[in-house]
Amino acid sequence: MSLVRLDGVTCAYNGMPALLDVDLDVAPAAFTGIVGPSGSGKTTLLRVILGTVRPVAGAVRRDPSLRLGYVPQVETVNWNFPVTVAEAVLMSRTQGRRLPWPSRDERRQVDETLDLLGIGGLGRRHIRDLSGGQQQRVFLARALLREPQLLLLDEPTSGVDVRTRHEILHLLADLNGAGLAIVLTTHDLNGMAAHLPDLVCLNTEVTGRGAPHAVLTPEVLERTYGAPMDVLSHGGMPVVVDRHTVHQLHRGRTA
Ligand code: ADP
Repeated sequence: MSLVRLDGVTCAYNGMPALLDVDLDVAPAAFTGIVGPSGSGKTTLLRVILGTVRPVAGAVRRDPSLRLGYVPQVETVNWNFPVTVAEAVLMSRTQGRRLPWPSRDERRQVDETLDLLGIGGLGRRHIRDLSGGQQQRVFLARALLREPQLLLLDEPTSGVDVRTRHEILHLLADLNGAGLAIVLTTHDLNGMAAHLPDLVCLNTEVTGRGAPHAVLTPEVLERTYGAPMDVLSHGGMPVVVDRHTVHQLHRGRTA
């Protein structure tokens, strides 16, 4: 049983293909990273799963009762909206309702979710005044309050420091362990993708699918990025390096 299934999906903007003949199965236990260069169709693929972009060919089958949560890229958000963290998160519960004020239960759920994400003390702060990692968690809290079965995240670690990246990765792993399916996009091969159990490599078409050690290979990476890359091993984990960088390091050492 899959939550969402794509068969031969092609999407185009103004006649230019952004996705070509993509097959994808999102299982209830998925923890999948979509990797590829800028413009390779990662966001479009998330939007197809979400249902906000319609394919020009192929089929998308979604479990009709599926509850989805979407965490947009923090950089794309308008932060001039004058709300506090607690208000921004509460709104995801009360949106579209005839009576928009929250119940005591909903306030309690918001407090619990903010605590779970480690931002419990920030409820009264303005969202604009938070760090990138804290803003990311506010969006995560909004998505989680909808009690999704599948969580989609667009570049959840872009613009955050290394420690925050670790924390976000662990948080997502815990949520996945508790039964939430997760699909995210990332351009961070070593910091993010190499730590996920399952990857989809994308360059308009799917160029590879599987565990990091199976797809983070020079062949798949060259198909995906159109540039030669080398893969080293560090403590059993693949580490991707730009071949140009390796040559420069090597020249430096032998000079
Ligand atoms: P990624 O997330 O990997 O950067 P996108 O899915 O955003 O890739 O974009 C894939 C391609 O589609 C790019 O060439 C991009 O310029 C184009 N594209 C994305 N969104 C639009 C849009 N709304 N209108 C026109 N072209 C778009």
